Amino acid sequence: MTVTADGLQVRAHYLAACEGGHSTVRKLLGLPFPGRPGTQQAVLADIRLSAVSSLVPQQLGHMSTLTRQGGGYWAMLAPLGGDRYRITFGRADQADIDRDTPVTHEEITAALQAVYGEETTLGAVDNSSRFSDATRQLEHNRAGRVLFAGDAAHIHPPLGGQGLNLGIHDAINLGWKLAAAVQDRAPSGLLDSYHTERHPVGAQVLHHTSAQRVLADPHPSEDVAALRDIFIDLLRLPDTNRHLAGLMSGLSLRYELPGEHPLTGQRMPDVDLVTAAGPTRLSALFGSGHAVLLDLAGIVPADLPLPARVDLVRATCTDDVGAAALLFRPDGYVCWAAEKSDACGKTLLSTIAGDLAKAH
Ligand SMILES: Cc1cc2nc3c(=O)[nH]c(=O)nc-3n(C[C@H](O)[C@H](O)[C@H](O)COP(=O)(O)OP(=O)(O)OC[C@H]3O[C@@H](n4cnc5c(N)ncnc54)[C@H](O)[C@@H]3O)c2cc1C
Repeated sequence: MTVTADGLQVRAHYLAACEGGHSTVRKLLGLPFPGRPGTQQAVLADIRLSAVSSLVPQQLGHMSTLTRQGGGYWAMLAPLGGDRYRITFGRADQADIDRDTPVTHEEITAALQAVYGEETTLGAVDNSSRFSDATRQLEHNRAGRVLFAGDAAHIHPPLGGQGLNLGIHDAINLGWKLAAAVQDRAPSGLLDSYHTERHPVGAQVLHHTSAQRVLADPHPSEDVAALRDIFIDLLRLPDTNRHLAGLMSGLSLRYELPGEHPLTGQRMPDVDLVTAAGPTRLSALFGSGHAVLLDLAGIVPADLPLPARVDLVRATCTDDVGAAALLFRPDGYVCWAAEKSDACGKTLLSTIAGDLAKAH
């Protein structure tokens, strides 16, 4: 296919469309982007204040200390140092404004003065944009040789700050699979597993940002206020807190990979390791873009025939990671693990002989 971007024409076998929520590629291909339109619009702006009232927060803190309402507006004002602030604000009657309408100085001034008092004075606007709480997701992350990642594939309200994390995870999941496909070493189905693995993760984020949208309603009904009170109580329970933290951070994500070991399909904490070359961390082993076979107990046979794109790292670790040896995909997810007692050579070789190794 031939793609033109900024006047440059490129011929390519595949195209990764990562150009945000307004994705030109998605629109040119006429792909449906089903979901719900936004019900509220808001403005995000990096600004400078030349005078501030006592209501203006002077230091970063819990979100509740940065958020205020007044004169029909809700606003969040975060101090960025000196006279620089980041303001996010909205009001109920902003729902119909076209997202491409430029944000005006007067509009920001009106919000600032309604919420933070008339003595608060806008000095300059460094940048500004509008966003909405629209929720949409492509039905399929792949359309032939075009693969969608990030906001081009899914949009949702920014609550919980998950969009960037989600998009980066898409890109890391896609990267090694696409590299294998481009170099003709991907087994059948490897590239399709990008959709199989990542589409449900996007759908889950859309699902729980929908719940957050209700809970974070700046003008909650009596029922929503009651729901919010109960939710606040539930959040004080460590298990609930841990569950939601795992969801929102993506750390509880587990892919359906074959294998019996409990670590299979998960990421591992970024533990300290000591290798022959000295101290390092687990995350530092993935810079090559290869799969990594980590031997923590000297159980991987020295004569195991490993493909060139699997790096064998022998190391020690003072943390109990729950396995004596692990095979990580290039995106850091465990696709095989063994306890000391396992028949390491046999089970490992059968995994390496499977999809992962063929792709390497
Ligand atoms: C108010 C607000 C607060 C947020 N806070 C957080 C947060 O705290 N944490 C978090 O994780 N996420 C947050 N997000 C979400 C996050 O910003 C997005 O999910 C993330 O930026 C998506 O990244 P992306 O690369 O997919 O798209 P974008 O960041 O939109 O990047 C797309 C890029 O493609 C370029 N582009 C577009 N069209 C073309 C074209 N035709 N040709 C060439 N280039 C093109 C654009 O210029 C842009 O550089 C927030 C969003 C909003 C609105």
